[in-house]
Amino acid sequence: MPQPTKHVVVKGERFRVHLSRDELRLRVAELGQQITRDYAGKKPIFIGVLNGAIMFMSDLLRAVDLDCEIDFIKLSSYGAEKVSSGNVTKLKGIDADLKDRHVIFVEDIVDTGLSMQFLMDLVQESNPASVAVATLLHKHEATRVPLTLDYVGYRIPNQFVIGYGLDWGQIGRNLPELYILDEPGKN
Ligand code: 5GP
Repeated sequence: MPQPTKHVVVKGERFRVHLSRDELRLRVAELGQQITRDYAGKKPIFIGVLNGAIMFMSDLLRAVDLDCEIDFIKLSSYGAEKVSSGNVTKLKGIDADLKDRHVIFVEDIVDTGLSMQFLMDLVQESNPASVAVATLLHKHEATRVPLTLDYVGYRIPNQFVIGYGLDWGQIGRNLPELYILDEPGKN
């Protein structure tokens, strides 16, 4: 018998499961294996974009069988809104020296693409050997700037999601599944 769809209510909004733990686990493992193949013989540095990328980053790294380093950057987030403000600012910078390094940015989600464009511009100043992007999610219909996304877990509709690192007003990051806003008539 099919299981009823699981729902959560976070800060007064109702969300339903979009991707289960098992789906996420398998897909993230595939991405880790792909990166392992693509970077054979290299020592990449993974730069996680705080706070949303924490779960994806930790699961992805466990699936990468390479010598590698990690660092983090923190950008301004949505705050308490469900749509991007369009203004990207840096709240915490990268500590590592990226000159001649193979850099892989790890993002939870690419929406408008403005955050990723900001990161691409920023990293070029450090003269890395190469730059790639691994994002768990891509809201492709919302992306406004041309970007090359090398590793994409899932393309999702242009709707607000939480869980698996993503928040609604800082709540919901610890949910092990990915949830999508339940909007009657829309989904
Ligand atoms: P972009 O600059 O591509 O518009 O947005 C990137 C950032 O916006 C992501 O790293 C994430 O923090 C936030 N974001 C975009 N879409 C969503 C969403 O559906 N849910 C949540 N919780 N955050 C989102």
